[in-house]
Amino acid sequence: MNSCEPIEVFYNIRTDIDKLQYASYILKIVEDITNENDSSYNILQLLLNTIYTISETEMNKDLVIAIFKLRLMSIIGFTPNITECVNCHSKENLTHFSIKSSGLKCEICAKQDKSVISISEATLYAIKYIIMAPAKKLFSFNVPDESIEELKLISKVYMEEKLEKSYKFDKIFS
Ligand SMILES: [Zn+2]
Repeated sequence: MNSCEPIEVFYNIRTDIDKLQYASYILKIVEDITNENDSSYNILQLLLNTIYTISETEMNKDLVIAIFKLRLMSIIGFTPNITECVNCHSKENLTHFSIKSSGLKCEICAKQDKSVISISEATLYAIKYIIMAPAKKLFSFNVPDESIEELKLISKVYMEEKLEKSYKFDKIFS
């Protein structure tokens, strides 16, 4: 951002309690992480892009938060393995995401792992996109509703496992 950027950029967030709550939720997470991390430029860029998306677009908020969490984990060094099964290295039938092994697992290996979450093909592509996309295009995609549910679960559990902390989404006003 250049220094002339007006504060009005996040205008909508000040007029919408729901958007404000999502924004304060992600701020809470970032606040914890920046103290002990040196990727602060990338984190700040992600934070601004996320708040911008919450503020200025109608993108599904659960999806925005899930993207934010997964991307944040990869910025701070917990990039999941998304190219092959973390166990047998197969590139086929990647039907699960393993929380404990930090990456994808094929159908067979997933049977031995209690921490796996089953994923649809749309979710598989979404996870790859979230990890690989250029920062500016991070929020430029959409997925079916069932994928949003899967991404929401994976990003939540994965982040909690890596940060060893849980973040409850509290409604400030309901
Ligand atoms: Zn496997």
